[in-house]
This record gives sequence, structure tokens and C-alpha cells, in this order.
Amino acid sequence: ASTFKDRSVALFGLGGSGLATARSLKAGGARLVAFDDNPKSVEAAANEGIITGDLHALDWSAVETLVLSPGVPLTHPKPHWAVDLAREAGVPIVGDIEIFARERDAASGLRAPFVAITGTNGKSTTTALIAHCLAHAGRDVQLGGNIGVAVLTLDPPAPERTYVVECSSYQIDLTPSIRPTVGILLNLTPDHLDRHGTMENYAAIKARLLKDAGTAVIGVDDDFCAGIADWHESEGNVVVRISKEKTLESGVFFADGSILVAVGGTIARRYPLAGIGSLRGRHNGQNAAAAVATLEALGVAQDAILAGLRSFPGLVHRMEEIGRQGPVLFVNDSKATNADAAAPALASFERIHWIAGGLPKEGGIDALEPLFPRIAKAYLIGEAAPSFAATLGERIPYEISGTLDVAVENAARDAARSGVEEVVLLSPACASFDQFRNFEVRGESFRRAVEQLPAIQLFRK
Ligand code: ADP
Repeated sequence: ASTFKDRSVALFGLGGSGLATARSLKAGGARLVAFDDNPKSVEAAANEGIITGDLHALDWSAVETLVLSPGVPLTHPKPHWAVDLAREAGVPIVGDIEIFARERDAASGLRAPFVAITGTNGKSTTTALIAHCLAHAGRDVQLGGNIGVAVLTLDPPAPERTYVVECSSYQIDLTPSIRPTVGILLNLTPDHLDRHGTMENYAAIKARLLKDAGTAVIGVDDDFCAGIADWHESEGNVVVRISKEKTLESGVFFADGSILVAVGGTIARRYPLAGIGSLRGRHNGQNAAAAVATLEALGVAQDAILAGLRSFPGLVHRMEEIGRQGPVLFVNDSKATNADAAAPALASFERIHWIAGGLPKEGGIDALEPLFPRIAKAYLIGEAAPSFAATLGERIPYEISGTLDVAVENAARDAARSGVEEVVLLSPACASFDQFRNFEVRGESFRRAVEQLPAIQLFRK
């Protein structure tokens, strides 16, 4: 990252993206000192020639920037000590996407198309969908950010190279000068309030992504985002509204299984989603509407967009259809780590054998009550099992399975009994950390358990 050449930079956090940032700053000639609370990470960085040292010992009056890894707390529950040091010295704090954004602005004069995506749910799906469609249309595409590829490991900016970057609110907090070609705000529901305090604060952070966007694509199905769209429009910014449930006079919305592009009250273009398994469900209508709005803004032709949507393979661990055992479908939605994220999966199927539980989030599964009639039986695992059982009460049958393996075995047995189409769905509405390292490991365990079942037909991999 040459925009920091000869600058004095302190970096805290040497995990995956932190280490990539340190490498990039070093290669770009920054005067860097990097540190982490974990001595092993410090040692690994030092072994590749990155200058490391305890940031307490720095002369902070000479430091120009503190670079922070996402997840290092700025405010909640309290600021990390490195944040305190920087603030006391009046040193600006940024993240890796800020460095990327400055590189891109400097290297390409803002011409490298840059799509930045945020929201509470659907970020990764939308990011992957847009990148897939662009690649399918023959564009030079780089995909990164919160989806799991550090932005500073991507190919360097060039005028015709398009960046599609998923941004968490953590990352937006640390990216003051983001100026995407298209900025997307999908939705806002309470999540991550532990770090950002209030919903208003969280909304303000997410809205910052759109402030200097060439085009702001905004989901208007929740009041917060609808307000943000109105505000941006009143500021004279280019806003494209998207919806998964409302008919819009102008904008892009999901209706009758299609994405419709409305211009001045008439439907200008139509993108049918029927038969695209990876975009099943109304929530994916929101994601696909965001993708269509963005791709059109980037000048991709209608037939190319449609071909891209049709060939989208979907993401692992997000309503991923794993296989069938006779009429029973097995779906891995391990990524659904809260009730809001689990709702779309429950709304997409009927006769559900629902595997849920883990480390519960605030509110538990109360919000899912309207969807309970779709559940044939629940199989509860992990620490949340007793509290989820209490919520389900006498309304739907459940068992405390305890572990995922037992839940899969029992759910498969019960689902096979009726002989009609039923679904065994892992959509836990909980974090995984009580029993698994992360949601990916949880999803892989589910897949393995399903693979053991007799006469199972697997779809791919
Ligand atoms: P994120 O990257 O924001 O966490 P993902 O695309 O990985 O979102 O999807 C996470 C979970 O949220 C999935 O379980 C999926 O069922 C659900 N989901 C996906 N898109 C949406 C949406 N637009 N609105 C609400 N929930 C969604």
C-alpha cells in the first residue's frame, strides 16, 4: 500500500486480515510497528520481517495512523487499550478497507468500479451474487472484505478492474473515506448492538457507506433504511430503492417470483427467478434486487444479468441444499446465527424438522413464533436447548437432542416416516461456540452426519 509510504503507522491485530495489512504496508514502504495481544501472532509476523513491538512503548506523538483489525473493540464493552493510546494522542484510527479505498482512489483515479455491500443479513450472498454475475458477464472482478478474503490480498487496482467488497459495520466504522461506485445497504435489524450501543448509532455507521457513493442502493423494507433512503435523496444523491415486498413506482423489487425494474410507474425490465434453487425465498428476492440494481448501474446488459442469476451456485452454509433421502431434503443453514437470519429459511419450507440451538442470542427464538406452524418437530442442541424448549412449550413437538449428530439421526428417522416431502433443516438461530469452533465447522459436521445416512443422494461436492 504505497499511499502510506514513509508514514509512521502502528498496527494492532495480526490475525488473517491484520497480517495481510501489515505485509501490504511493509511492501509499500510504510514505517510500521505491528502488535497483537497474542504472542504467537507477533512471532509469526516478526518471522517474516515485519517490525513488531509493544505499542505501549511507542512515541505516539510521532505516529500518524493506527490501523486496527475488525473486531478489536472501539467502544463496547470498552475501548481496547490500543484505541485508548491512539485517542489520547489524537491519532486517526482506520481499518484495511480504508487503506484499500485510498489505494484504489490513488491508483485508478476512482475509475476502478467499486461495489461496497453492507446490511444486517444477506451481505455475503449479495456480494457473491454480484461478483458471480460480473465474472459471468466477462468483467475482471475481485471479491473480498468481510466475506473472508482480506481486501489487501486482492489484485491491485486498475481502471477496468471491479471490486466487490462486503463490509461489516465494524469495518465501516474504520473506513472514513469510502467512496464506492455503488454502495448497498440491504437492511438493518438489531444485531451487533454490543459494539455499537444503539440502533441509531448502528444505522449511522451503515449509512456512512453511502454518503459518497456514486449510486446508493437501499432496501426500504425496514423503517431505518427507508429513512436513510429519504435522507440521501433529499441530499441530492442518486438512490435506487429496492424491496422484497413492496411495489415501487421507481426502483427494483421482488414480486411474483421475479425481480422487476420499475421506472416512473411502469415495469421496464423483468428478471424471473423461478427455478433458481440458490435464490429461493423472499429474502433472496431482496439480495437479487440489490444485485440487479447494481449490475444495471454498472452497465451490464439485461441478458447477461439474467444468465448470471441463473448460474449462481449459492454459498455454502446458507440454505445450502445438501442432498435427499427419498422425499426428504437436507438443508444446511448453519450461517443463521440469530433468529432474524433463521427466519428466511423457516419461511422457505414447510413440514420442517428443525435443528436449532447452540449459544443463544438475546431474544432467543421469540421472533420466530409466526413461523412455528411450519415446523413438524424441533431437535434442540447446545446450551440454548432448555430455553428454546420453554419457548416452544406445548405448541410444537420437540426433543432435546443435545448434539448435532443425534439431532440429524432422529430428524432423518422422523422425516422419513410420513413418506411425503419433508425438510431436515439446520438453521440454528444461535452462535456455534458452545459446541463448534465456528459456524463453518458446524455446517461441515451437519454435512458429514447427512452423508452417513443410508441411501442418501448428495447434490454436489
Ligand atoms: P451475512 O453475510 O449478512 O451474514 P448471508 O448472505 O451470509 O448474510 O446470509 C446469512 C443468513 O441470513 C442466511 O442464513 C440466510 O438465510 C439469511 N439471509 C440471507 N439474505 C437475507 C436477507 N436479505 N434478509 C434476511 N435474511 C437473509
